[in-house]
Amino acid sequence: MILTEEGYITLEGTTPAYHYYLKDHQGNNRVVMDQGGTVLQVNHYYPFGGLFGEGVQASNQPYRYNGKELDRQLNLDLYDYGARHYNAALGRWLTVDPLAEKYYSISPYNYCANNPVRYIDPDGRDGMVTGTGTQNGPYVITAAYYYEKGSLDKDQVKGLNSAVKSYNNLGGKNGVKVTNEDGSVSYVKYNLSAEEVDNVDAARAGTQFETSSGETRYYGNKVGTEANTYGSIDELGSANNIRVDFNPTNIDAAVSSEGYNKSSLIKGVAIHEIGHNLGGEHSDGTSTMSQVTKTITTSQISTGGGNNNVTYSYPSTSASFTKTIFQRRDAPKSHPSDGRIWTRKQ
Ligand SMILES: [Zn+2]
Repeated sequence: MILTEEGYITLEGTTPAYHYYLKDHQGNNRVVMDQGGTVLQVNHYYPFGGLFGEGVQASNQPYRYNGKELDRQLNLDLYDYGARHYNAALGRWLTVDPLAEKYYSISPYNYCANNPVRYIDPDGRDGMVTGTGTQNGPYVITAAYYYEKGSLDKDQVKGLNSAVKSYNNLGGKNGVKVTNEDGSVSYVKYNLSAEEVDNVDAARAGTQFETSSGETRYYGNKVGTEANTYGSIDELGSANNIRVDFNPTNIDAAVSSEGYNKSSLIKGVAIHEIGHNLGGEHSDGTSTMSQVTKTITTSQISTGGGNNNVTYSYPSTSASFTKTIFQRRDAPKSHPSDGRIWTRKQ
C-alpha cells in the first residue's frame, strides 16, 4: 500500500490500482473509493474518533480518523499520530504530551483540549491551539521566528523583539477577550518567540508537524532581509506563511526622505509582517494590518509659517486583529483545517 496525496495505490503484480479518500473538514477519511468510483469503505465517527455504523467495508485500509492509521493489532484499536498513540474509545492519549510543560492548565493526556469537534491534533505533539479559552487558561497561538547569526542588524533585531513582545503582551495575563460567532467568549494569547540561531532550517525542522492530510508544516519561520527577492520592491517588508523579511533599502529611504523614526518604523514593519505571517490581510482593516503611513492632516499643517506638526501612524498589535484570525479557525470550509489556529497568507 503506497500512500498518495489523495489516497493510496495498491499493486496487483505490476498493475497499480488507485484509491481515493473523501475527507471531511477535519481530515477524517469518510469514504474510500477506487478509480472507477466504486465505494470500498464508509466510516462514520463519534466526535472523539470512535467508529460507528461502518457501512461498505470491501476495503480494510487502516487510515481513518484525522487520516491517521488505526492500528487494530491485539484489538487495541489505537490511532498512530506519530508522536503519540491515541485511544478513541477513551478520548485520551496513552502517554503524556511531550510539550506538557508548556500547557500547565490542561491535562497532558486530554485530546484537543477536550474539544474534538472544533480542533484536531495534527501529530499529537503540538496542537498549535492550546489552552481552553477561559480567563485562567486562554487559547495560545504559538509561532517561532528564527534569524541566522549576523543576518539582521541591531535595529532589526530590536524591532523584531519589540514586535514579538507587543503580541505576547496583548490582552495582559489572560489574553484578548474574543466574542465567538456563537456569542460565547474566549480568551486568546500569543506565544511568539524570536531567536538567533546558527541554522534556521535546523531550527525550523524542530517545529515540524504533520497535518491531518499528511502534509508537513512548521510553526517556525525565517526572518531575513530578502523582501526584494519575493515581495513588492515598493514595500518596507514582506511576509508569507514561512517567512518575514525586512527591506532595508526601502526602510532607509523612508527614514531619510520621509523622516520616519527608524526604530519605530522597523518595529511597525515587524508587527505588520508578522500579522501577514499569522494570516492577516490588508482588507482586515485592523491596526495591525494597517500599512505604515505618514499622515498629515490639514489642521496639523501650519499655515502661518510656524512649525508643521506631522504625525506618523504605525501598525500596532490589536484585539480586533486577534479576533479576526481566531475566528478564521471557526470557518473550516473556507480555510481547510490544517492544524493551525490561524490561516496564513501564501
Ligand atoms: Zn502588508
